[in-house]
Amino acid sequence: MKRVGAHVSISGGVRNAPLNAREIGAKGFAMFTKNQRQWKAKPLEHAEIDAFNENMETCGYRPQDVLPHDSYLINLGHPEAEKRQKSLDAFIDELQRCRQLGLIYLNFHPGSHLRKMSEEACLAAISESLNRALEVTEGVTAVIENTAGQGSNMGYRFEHLAAIIDGVEDKSRIGVCLDTCHTFTAGYDLRSEAAFNETFEAFERTVGFAYLKGVHLNDSKPDLGSRVDRHDSLGKGKLGWEPFYRLMRDPRFDEMPMVLETIDSDIWVQEIKHLYEAASTGS
Ligand SMILES: [Zn+2]
Ligand SMILES: [Zn+2]
Repeated sequence: MKRVGAHVSISGGVRNAPLNAREIGAKGFAMFTKNQRQWKAKPLEHAEIDAFNENMETCGYRPQDVLPHDSYLINLGHPEAEKRQKSLDAFIDELQRCRQLGLIYLNFHPGSHLRKMSEEACLAAISESLNRALEVTEGVTAVIENTAGQGSNMGYRFEHLAAIIDGVEDKSRIGVCLDTCHTFTAGYDLRSEAAFNETFEAFERTVGFAYLKGVHLNDSKPDLGSRVDRHDSLGKGKLGWEPFYRLMRDPRFDEMPMVLETIDSDIWVQEIKHLYEAASTGS
């Protein structure tokens, strides 16, 4: 079964995320566990955690149906030791928040070298940060998201994801999330059936589907290989509907959160509905 949903709001508290997801007909979802634009957040209160768990159960979501996303401020590959440490501390806090909520994943963007270190050194720094974070936490898998490669962001080649995983000691707690827009603008075509197959064969060869824990479903405003990260509503960008229909019919993407981060949240309901219809009719 496919677990399609969207990145839903936690406005009013994390307890609202499962309710917001159910509201749009989602079978899986993404969320922040704190304000993503701030370094510090107050600890989750017991009442909030209890309410979250209750709503998860009421709405029928399991921990593996949820792909929490970390703060955009975090850069685990920061070239300066002091700032990397600040990111690491925040990342550890995020892992602990997920754990407190009974969740098992934390989706993060690998990091940026800010043109102050080599790509190789940045990838090694990210692995080292992950080793330190995983060592002092438990129960949560760190899920690396592939990027469009905008600016000095790492993670735009499948080889980058493989290199980070290679440097992580506890491989049972590392996973990958593929964003369709990022994949495409990083230079991996998905539009024709042949291109779709070739891209995911390359992913299987380089990283492996065993590591895939989730997908971000976004159409793309920029073109193939542009290295620019601009999402569009499904079917309205350069990708069109076809790649998304193919994803819905591909069993390699069963039972993992498939999350819309598309630009118009007012049509998430229709996007989700359309994807499920396409999956069942095979069109
Ligand atoms: Zn994404
Ligand atoms: Zn993006």
